[in-house]
Amino acid sequence: MATKVLIVEDEERIARFLELELEHEGYVVTKTGDGREGLEKALDGGFDIILLDVMLPGLSGLEVIRRLRKSSDVPVIMLTARDAVMDKVSGLDMGADDYVTKPFAIEELLARIRVTLRKKAQGEAGDGEKLLSCGKLTLSSAARTAAYDGHVLDLTKREFDMLETLLLNKNIVLTRDSFIEKVWGYDYMGETNVVDVYVRYLRSKLDDVYGVELIHTVRGVGYVLKD
Ligand code: CA
Repeated sequence: MATKVLIVEDEERIARFLELELEHEGYVVTKTGDGREGLEKALDGGFDIILLDVMLPGLSGLEVIRRLRKSSDVPVIMLTARDAVMDKVSGLDMGADDYVTKPFAIEELLARIRVTLRKKAQGEAGDGEKLLSCGKLTLSSAARTAAYDGHVLDLTKREFDMLETLLLNKNIVLTRDSFIEKVWGYDYMGETNVVDVYVRYLRSKLDDVYGVELIHTVRGVGYVLKD
């Protein structure tokens, strides 16, 4: 069955562009430019994922997500303005699953949509009972264990969270900032090079031990887990 997307975005140019791109990917799209109408449609249900702008007429995106979360756990990706840190923080606090900063590359948004839908599906499959995997690497979110070719990896909590983040975003390049947000939390105030330190720890327990190259460095950008 086709995946149904609700776009709540008042900038017609962006909404139209998203609609075309998503339909091209096979999604069934409904769009509205008004926050109140967006909330009504979202509450009516039937959508697999919602793309929600923050600055909207009728009702702000933050208010939409706040009210929506009282009765629905449909995945929501917020579309926030560049540097609107407060919007991102508030959106996540109110239960948004992820956000994309405008202007965004469509490929990034499509990747975020896939990741969010995948996480949702895994959650429904029984609290992460399904194993995440990449080649011979497997990870169980429920049991909080990871193994390579059947050998259990001895990981600290932080290392495990890093590896889980890499696996959930397999084949998607993650920046240091996105690791910080996903693993350390958006209120983390330290240096982002802590990410490099943890990638080194993980490589020393994984890549180096098993003679494989799973965690790839993308120069000037971040890291990606690939077969
Ligand atoms: Ca807007």
